Amino acid sequence: MNHYQVNEIFFSLQGEGVRTGTPNLFLRLSKCNLACTVETHGFDCDTEFESGRELNLEEIVSELQASSPTCDWIVVTGGEPALQVDRELIDGLHAAGYKLAIETNGSVELPPGLDWVTVSPKVAEHAIRQRSADEVKYVRAYGQALPETVVEAGHYLISPAFDGTRLERRTLEWCLRLVEENPPWRLSVQVHKLLGIR
Ligand code: SF4
Repeated sequence: MNHYQVNEIFFSLQGEGVRTGTPNLFLRLSKCNLACTVETHGFDCDTEFESGRELNLEEIVSELQASSPTCDWIVVTGGEPALQVDRELIDGLHAAGYKLAIETNGSVELPPGLDWVTVSPKVAEHAIRQRSADEVKYVRAYGQALPETVVEAGHYLISPAFDGTRLERRTLEWCLRLVEENPPWRLSVQVHKLLGIR
């Protein structure tokens, strides 16, 4: 049985994207292949993903059930979850009755079988390996242009860079302009940060 480096497991509401407001278990896998900063990406990574415990599938399912006995959707996130997600994890969680959403930076191709894929690119377009998704979401800081995306998606989202304490007015207005000028792109605000929930 494979082991996975798990940073944390918890229940909350999805706070961004098309699935905003839906109940989800969050399975945060450790490690990332990038290190986003204001200098490199226009915003600082606000997630602690380095720490983690080694858990196998059985232990993960047991912690998921303890976090919520009724919720049947999992958001697999990170760090960069594509570094660890494999068929054993996907098939095992499906067999336990869960549906799987994933949030990836797109730099590693995902295995098939996931139920909802969010690609939030943090690399140049030519370096994106996961090129199909249910939704594609670009975090944009003030002044950052919208690239011609290589990701084919059902929904196209622009997320104003937001450190969780203050959504800058000029960043919001910049993103509103991007939305206005680039149909079918639409705005996705990180509602969980506004509400002060995880
Ligand atoms: S890709 Fe995501 S998790 Fe990784 S460093 Fe960048 S913002 Fe953080």
